[in-house]
Amino acid sequence: MSKFTTVEEKLSNNTYNADRDFVHIELNPKAKLVDIMVLVCACPAGLYKYDEVTDKLNFDHTGCLECGSCRILSEGKVVKKWCFPNGGKGSEYKLG
Ligand code: SF4
Repeated sequence: MSKFTTVEEKLSNNTYNADRDFVHIELNPKAKLVDIMVLVCACPAGLYKYDEVTDKLNFDHTGCLECGSCRILSEGKVVKKWCFPNGGKGSEYKLG
């Protein structure tokens, strides 16, 4: 019998060398909710979180997988600036 590995289990094998001094993704504070919700659904790391009570988008770049999905989907809408983290920082993938 084979054991399936979940996405969460695979992600937990990665290590993240967070660069807290350099924010590599900057957001538009005036983004529309409809555009925000696209990223809430699309980000594979679940970094875009919309709080209905405060009507605010919560985002933390430090767990970013550097996939670029948010850039492709919303550059100029929600994402104001996107670049890779500085060398030696960010995600370090472990395959398997
Ligand atoms: S690059 Fe990918 S993992 Fe990082 S915030 Fe954007 S969608 Fe999420």
